[in-house]
Amino acid sequence: MFNAIIINKDAAGYRSELTQVDQAQLPEGDVTVRVQYSGLNYKDGLAITGKGPVVRKFPMVPGIDIVGTVEQTDSPNYQVGDSVILNGWGVGETHWGGLAQVARLKGDWLIPLPKAMAPRDAAAIGTAGYTAMLCVMALQRHGVKPTDGEIVVTGAAGGVGSVAVALLAKLGFDVVAVTGRAAEADYLKALGATSIMDRTELAEPGKPLAKERWAGAVDVVGSHTLANICASTRYRGVVTACGLAGGMDFPSTVAPFILRGVTLVGIDSVMCPRDERLTAWQRLATELEPTKLHAMVQEIGMGQVIDVAGKLLQGQVRGRVVVDVNR
Ligand code: NDP
Repeated sequence: MFNAIIINKDAAGYRSELTQVDQAQLPEGDVTVRVQYSGLNYKDGLAITGKGPVVRKFPMVPGIDIVGTVEQTDSPNYQVGDSVILNGWGVGETHWGGLAQVARLKGDWLIPLPKAMAPRDAAAIGTAGYTAMLCVMALQRHGVKPTDGEIVVTGAAGGVGSVAVALLAKLGFDVVAVTGRAAEADYLKALGATSIMDRTELAEPGKPLAKERWAGAVDVVGSHTLANICASTRYRGVVTACGLAGGMDFPSTVAPFILRGVTLVGIDSVMCPRDERLTAWQRLATELEPTKLHAMVQEIGMGQVIDVAGKLLQGQVRGRVVVDVNR
């Protein structure tokens, strides 16, 4: 038996609970992982609370992130005792995830823990941090350089936002951190933000084109925020869109794209190809300063997961949440 958060949906309604599960119930897979840490991402919050249609099979163990060691393997690529990371691939949505002491997975989904990275740090980075790196890589792939001008990061005090601010600052960019939490200004400046903008400035319907300001953007909010960012992106600037914390809609016009040559890049972490994941994690191992990462993290045990998941969706959690699944 092992401890797990289990989500059920039946005649009694949608509910998540911490319970004991028999190993015989684990789903199919060629690698069994003894989980050390998982995390809480926005998507995990939606799954655990039932506020978004994330879970597509019941009962489900949530947890889109897994960091642990291989306990049993039929995969030629892994040996017992290897330290591994998993992010996405539908885990925690259609296949049992990481908020459990044991997980059975496809070996193809795993990547090795980068050398010199502590397991807890890998969980602290998690899908949010790896997605932030995918955004940074997309900006660079499209040629954005520090000399081009400011980069705007929305949802800056959240998980993706915090890591994006730290990574971009380390690379020498001027970062404007957009937040609804003025009280987190010092935290964001310590991560490397050059200035802070109140999120209400971007939240209302705006004009198709506004004064050119941003060389690039990392947006986790969507809706009017993303539309306003596109409208105020400089000629040939690049906007990466990865989230919907403010809404799934995109009330924009084509004006920024056809008149200013703005590029809008979609970022998906779930099905992202393995090579790009490996690059992202190798870069995170060297480019994310440990002191900044540690400043973003709070650690919780399994008994706190359901409560903190609700707080995360209410925007009350700063940075990243690591879950020690063994306490
Ligand atoms: P967090 O909850 O940690 O951060 C989200 C932040 O967004 C909040 O902290 C808040 O920042 C801001 N925010 C919340 N609600 C609103 C609102 N109504 N209007 C404007 N800003 C708001 O979540 P994550 O960082 O884990 O994820 C952020 C988004 O990115 C989510 O939508 C998530 O689904 C998405 N995501 C997508 C991935 C992909 O593969 N495409 C992967 C990972 C995440 P502040 O308090 O600073 O204003």
